[in-house]
Amino acid sequence: MAQHFIGGRWVGASSGQTLPVLDPATGEPFDTIPRGTAADIDAAVRAARAARRGAWGRMTAAERGRILLRMSALILARHEELARLEAHDTGKPMSQARNDIAVAARYCEFYGGAADKLHGEHLPYLNDFHVVVVHEPYGVTAHILPWNYPAQMFGRSVVPALATGNAAVLKPSEDACLSPLALCGIAQEAGLPDGALNVVCGLGEEAGAALTRHGDIDFVTFTGSPEVGTIVQKAAAERTLKCVLELGGKSPHLVFDDADLERTAGFVIKAITQNAGQTCSAGSRLLVQRSIYDEFTAMVAERFRATVAGTPDQDRDCGPLINQAQQRRVQGFVDRARAAGIPVLAQGRVAEGVHPGGFYVAPILFGAVPRTHELACDEVFGPVLAAMPFEDEADAIELANATDYGLIAAVWTRDGGRQTRVARALQCGQVYVNSYGAGGGVELPFGGVKKSGHGREKGFLALQEFCTVKTIVQYHGA
Ligand code: NAD
Repeated sequence: MAQHFIGGRWVGASSGQTLPVLDPATGEPFDTIPRGTAADIDAAVRAARAARRGAWGRMTAAERGRILLRMSALILARHEELARLEAHDTGKPMSQARNDIAVAARYCEFYGGAADKLHGEHLPYLNDFHVVVVHEPYGVTAHILPWNYPAQMFGRSVVPALATGNAAVLKPSEDACLSPLALCGIAQEAGLPDGALNVVCGLGEEAGAALTRHGDIDFVTFTGSPEVGTIVQKAAAERTLKCVLELGGKSPHLVFDDADLERTAGFVIKAITQNAGQTCSAGSRLLVQRSIYDEFTAMVAERFRATVAGTPDQDRDCGPLINQAQQRRVQGFVDRARAAGIPVLAQGRVAEGVHPGGFYVAPILFGAVPRTHELACDEVFGPVLAAMPFEDEADAIELANATDYGLIAAVWTRDGGRQTRVARALQCGQVYVNSYGAGGGVELPFGGVKKSGHGREKGFLALQEFCTVKTIVQYHGA
């Protein structure tokens, strides 16, 4: 029975109510989490505020960094156990879960090392004045996270907030919060003072909404759907709080006729099957120059047919989806596309021997998808790839920018001038050239434009996101 982590203690929901934790690979419950209330959120925010005023607020940047570095080592020491927990909670293949835990450790390592390197500035100004610009933590930061990469999201969102001295209150997804809770235990073991990190489990409309509306938070960061992101931003606006939004995507590959097609095909498959397509930066649109459209889509289709969805231990291309609602939603997209007569170029399969109650959808490739169809425009968040032909460079750019989203993109061409022209013309937060990094490395600033959100996480830039800037202008006399 999982519990909230508030003020350094494990506590149940004040209401006494719990929610079941389902195994996506079987559909069966295997644990419970507390159903958090506004009272639980209030207790967590109070604990965070007390930590800021107490031992945590007094720590030096180097001391904070050392705690995060210890966390990194402790995570790696329990790598396999944490990966198994993550796979059980989310259904993802074990190799993906192992990677996710390694990335969570890497976030702690990166931000642990960076904690004491966020320097301010000295500015030349009038004679007799000394002017410095300093970075200061906001105070109590609120973090609302989705279910697709719970351990990685913890590293991406909470760890830089801690590195800069904020005290964090996290509301993970009701569908996957076991690894963030386990990471709280590790943080405590690493020496994090009580209250610096608090996790309240529960439903979005209850615990999540109570957190974003709480009167004593100083900053909100949300990762999830554009719909909920808009609600969160409105709540933040009520108190004029800074709000970072990491939302969805409909990320394109732009494959030109001079690309290395063999290499490209491998990346294209991985970019949509990774985490069963439940990745904000999944490569879900395959835009191919018309002169090679048939040849290249046939090449991708052949590989697509070999893809398999299976259990975490079968460790195939992908696992089940997170829950039944998501399975039905994705299946709805597939059924409507078939009913509209859009050709299925290839479909993978679900492995033999999986539990019939698991939330599986076999990966599927559609093409040519009409440019205004929902498969060309809307985020599916499942292993569904939409192929579309384009004519030339200008048409490719127009098509790539034609959705409401703008998270990441990949340009596949050997032409150096075109690589730069297209990368600069794409409306998104990250562009890969002859590569694709769904999620990318922890060092790389990440975030969106348009409906994909605003603000940046990852990289050194994230430390600045979690700080407010103060300019101190001192007259020191002649
Ligand atoms: P979601 O928006 O349904 O839920 C995200 C979180 O918000 C959950 O913790 C949920 O409990 C909470 N929530 C729901 N209603 C709320 C409310 N009214 N107030 C406050 N909190 C509330 O998203 P999801 O289904 O968990 O995740 C899928 C979505 O997340 C996709 O759109 C995906 O693209 C996006 N995502 C984006 C990124 C990114 O970095 N850009 C990363 C991962 C996922």
